[in-house]
Amino acid sequence: MRKTIIAGNWKMNGRYDMAIDLVSAVKEATSGKGVCDILFFPPALYLKSLSYEIPFMSRYGLGGQNLSDKDDGAYTGEISGEMLKDVDCSYVLIGHSERRQLYGEDNALIQKKVRKAIGCGLRPLLCVGESLEQYEAEETLSHISKQVQSALEGMTADEASMCIIAYEPIWAIGTGKTSSPENAESVHSAIRSIINDLYSDAPSVAENISILYGGSVKPANAAELLAQPNIDGALVGGASLKAEDFIAIINATEE
Ligand code: PEP
Repeated sequence: MRKTIIAGNWKMNGRYDMAIDLVSAVKEATSGKGVCDILFFPPALYLKSLSYEIPFMSRYGLGGQNLSDKDDGAYTGEISGEMLKDVDCSYVLIGHSERRQLYGEDNALIQKKVRKAIGCGLRPLLCVGESLEQYEAEETLSHISKQVQSALEGMTADEASMCIIAYEPIWAIGTGKTSSPENAESVHSAIRSIINDLYSDAPSVAENISILYGGSVKPANAAELLAQPNIDGALVGGASLKAEDFIAIINATEE
């Protein structure tokens, strides 16, 4: 059975007090209710403090928004996978479209980052998705296929099983536009087939990998998206910054 996951990507938003309040409010409203995993990707500076709010071995988890493809050394401003582990992260976002577009991260670098994450025991949440131009030119699947294949290249079935994928059409991120549930479902199903082809000897990889949808998920559209058979959760940006909205999206996994 694959896990349902609701993950909040705070991006470069929030302050210390807000971070603590938000995680406590979400925990209070959800503990003892529901089974989905709930992940927080706050700015890295707040990770250690938030780790004290996250019960050990629970359905709550913490992740970095990025990691370096290098280990320790003279890499000013970078954060290594080992450092994320050291502040109790179990997850890391890799290949978010903002990193790809604004910081020039390409598939080759993302592949290195995914390997680095797995090498130090972090679960990568790999983001893939097409631009509006690619969507309109019907290049979604060829583009996503390249992104997924490149990120997983050379990975064993056990390593691939540590990954979580998020399909995030770039045209739907922070724009208020959402993919229709049918369109998202067809892309998710195609991603599962790509993984199935890559790991045809180990069909459990494709069966069990969680594929999240991201792109303007809000309380009003969450239930419909999450009801699709190949949508195993959501990666939420803007709406993860408001406890009430994030909790409503988490509750939508039960509908
Ligand atoms: C994101 O940043 O991953 C995202 C999906 O943002 P939003 O929900 O704001 O569109």
